[in-house]
Amino acid sequence: MPVLFQRVNGQIVWIRNPFTGTHTYFNNIHKKIFSFRDKKPTPNLSRPTLSERQGPISPDIAMQLAYEEARCLFCPGHEERTTPELFRVTYGEIFDPPEMPDGMLPDAWAIRVFPNLIPRIPEECTGGLNESYVLVEDARHYVIDPRSPRDLQWSGQLPVKQFVALLRANVRAMHLAYANDTVRSVLIRKNQGAESGASQPHIHNQVIASNALFPDIETEMLITAREPHIWAECTDFIRQEGWVIHEEGSLVTCWSPFGKFPRCFDVIDLAHWGLLTEMSEDVIACFARALHRVLVLFGPSALDYEVHQGDGIPLHAHVNSRQFTYSNIGGTLNLPTDLTDKVQAIRRTLQGPAL
Ligand SMILES: [Zn+2]
Ligand SMILES: [Zn+2]
Repeated sequence: MPVLFQRVNGQIVWIRNPFTGTHTYFNNIHKKIFSFRDKKPTPNLSRPTLSERQGPISPDIAMQLAYEEARCLFCPGHEERTTPELFRVTYGEIFDPPEMPDGMLPDAWAIRVFPNLIPRIPEECTGGLNESYVLVEDARHYVIDPRSPRDLQWSGQLPVKQFVALLRANVRAMHLAYANDTVRSVLIRKNQGAESGASQPHIHNQVIASNALFPDIETEMLITAREPHIWAECTDFIRQEGWVIHEEGSLVTCWSPFGKFPRCFDVIDLAHWGLLTEMSEDVIACFARALHRVLVLFGPSALDYEVHQGDGIPLHAHVNSRQFTYSNIGGTLNLPTDLTDKVQAIRRTLQGPAL
């Protein structure tokens, strides 16, 4: 079945998610007055850079920052506060000496992996073993030159080399999960910001394994088995509508009209299907770079992402931002009719004015 939609006077009015059957409607919500906030939502691109922030911080704030680090479970020096470490990746393993982040020692850990204290899928479901993993993405609690306890380190702020190393570490944790015979499905999950459900402020993500297929992935597998061309059809449609923000080889990065939240960006590798644990280092690195690009776009604001992989589906990620108005009515979303212009503006920002 092709992608179903209705177009009136050149403008898409609704589009149906071919996997779930839910509809997204386009209307003039950008013309609404949002009285709950003092300004209309704007992309994160205009966020002030760190260099624009001036002046020393007050002793009160400095104390507050130190206090937050002192009580953080994931900060260096507190390794005994987590479950036993499974493995670590040091800064020296990621960076050559000239590119070492300021103040970081080559032997110090950059990424640490341990079982989640509270498994997301109860151990009883996975043969009595905890198959939920936490990956601390960086030793640094805050960004450089923090001005408040909210200036937490965030994934898009990490050097891309470190993000590639992080995805590789995620894949290593997935190998540990797949060694358990009861495991049938594994995904990578990130919650950035308390508003997206993150329980710890220190930058981290999770690998979660289950004995049952995750329902979203099962749906993707079922529909893809019936309609193997559905991913190519969707990306063709998305490309036609001007919703692709970046494309390189088989990797398509786009705004998706099929997201769970209004601003969902997908990264899809149309050429690499199946288990991430069976993919080459190069494929993993290219995918990590594309995902990192989206995380840079959204900045430190609240978001979640999931990397979906499994038999019979292409490797892909869904990134959901929380910074835009979210109203789900009866399983439908609504979006502004001028969204294509906004996506095109992002594309130009990424690729230069010539495109
Ligand atoms: Zn910390
Ligand atoms: Zn998916």
